[in-house]
Amino acid sequence: MSSVLAKMSLWQKIFIGLILGLATGLIFGEQALVLKPLGTLFINLIKMLIVPLIFTSLITGIISMEDLTKMKRVGLKTFVIYLLTTAVAITIGLGFGTIMEPGVGVSLTTTATVTAKTAPALIDTILNMITKNPVASLTNGNILQIIFFAIILGISINLAGEKGEPVAKFFTSFSEVMYKMTELVIKFAPIGVFGLMAWVSASYGLDVLVGLGKVILVVYLASIVHVLLTMGLSISLFAKLSPFKFFKGILSAQSVAFTTTSSSGTLPVTTDNVVNNLGVSKPITSFVLPLGATINMDGTALYQGVCVLFVAQAFGIDLTFGNYITIILTATLASIGTAGVPGAGLIMLSLVLASVGLPIEGIAIIAGIDRILDMARTTVNVTGDAMVSLLVAKSEGELNEDIYNGTADLQASPEFIKS
Ligand code: ASP
Repeated sequence: MSSVLAKMSLWQKIFIGLILGLATGLIFGEQALVLKPLGTLFINLIKMLIVPLIFTSLITGIISMEDLTKMKRVGLKTFVIYLLTTAVAITIGLGFGTIMEPGVGVSLTTTATVTAKTAPALIDTILNMITKNPVASLTNGNILQIIFFAIILGISINLAGEKGEPVAKFFTSFSEVMYKMTELVIKFAPIGVFGLMAWVSASYGLDVLVGLGKVILVVYLASIVHVLLTMGLSISLFAKLSPFKFFKGILSAQSVAFTTTSSSGTLPVTTDNVVNNLGVSKPITSFVLPLGATINMDGTALYQGVCVLFVAQAFGIDLTFGNYITIILTATLASIGTAGVPGAGLIMLSLVLASVGLPIEGIAIIAGIDRILDMARTTVNVTGDAMVSLLVAKSEGELNEDIYNGTADLQASPEFIKS
């Protein structure tokens, strides 16, 4: 038994954890809730990694791009691809929402109560990125502020030249240590995923899925189309690589995203998969992924497209073409301000609804099933981050295609440990 387990790759173990968790929750119902602490333990472990990992790996990513022009180029490329894919995602969401009409014939009664937090205005999101106290941002885990400070710090280290070297060495070594810690923590993923899945299926059961089934169906279908078509095609057209290898390589990250519903929380696993399975260089990974986990939310934008139409249809409100454009713009921008944590997209949905004058109460209906939708959108978000890191790495000549194609001699490159 133990030798069988030892031979299995991480994603296979995680997948088994997911299926077993689902079955346990459905079979034992509420009794399966006792397993939730296993999931919480795992989530706490990955939360512990987030701040130091983002901080040190982003600084290291920037330090390794000593050449300022290269940094500008990679930064711009990353940002533009992030925005474009997000805009495509929401358009797909709107397309599916228009054709499949999930809100038509929905009864508006709901038992869910929502504490309607208001979403911050875009300008505030931007201004708030600049921290007044970097130490406080690190302690409070304010990711956007941490990213901003890390980027400035990395640039300053480079500008300081020789004098900045000891600091550069410190952060480079620190980030290596954080990668190691990540490897240790994700070994626990299969058990954590088992606990989380048992909890979700025990508390939602199959009934809930039937009630608001159409929204769930539309969000899942549109997500699958976006992942397979937009991302799969981008990989084969722009990077000229096999999409199958990509999807196989990031299965662990996808399973962890699906169960934890947090892109930031999944970041350690995504980083591991992207470096060790896809062969993206560490500098590109450590620049593109932490940014992506915070600002790139294809799944969230797609979900907002479907939900906005759901609310409009459920309340019998017709949307104009101009409304559609506003939705695309606001959802793309809102996705930048959405934190990579569970449920954040639901709060930002209020911003998108408000932008076209739709009733915010619509959120209450979605809230009841939001966890299930969050599972899909977070998986899409994480897949998008990994895809962009692949495209950027390929275009910068920083992709190890032997690792990507599984033809690398791992003995010869001990830096890459197969997970
Ligand atoms: N949970 C999502 C994520 O972490 C964000 C969202 O709620 O849409 O990517």
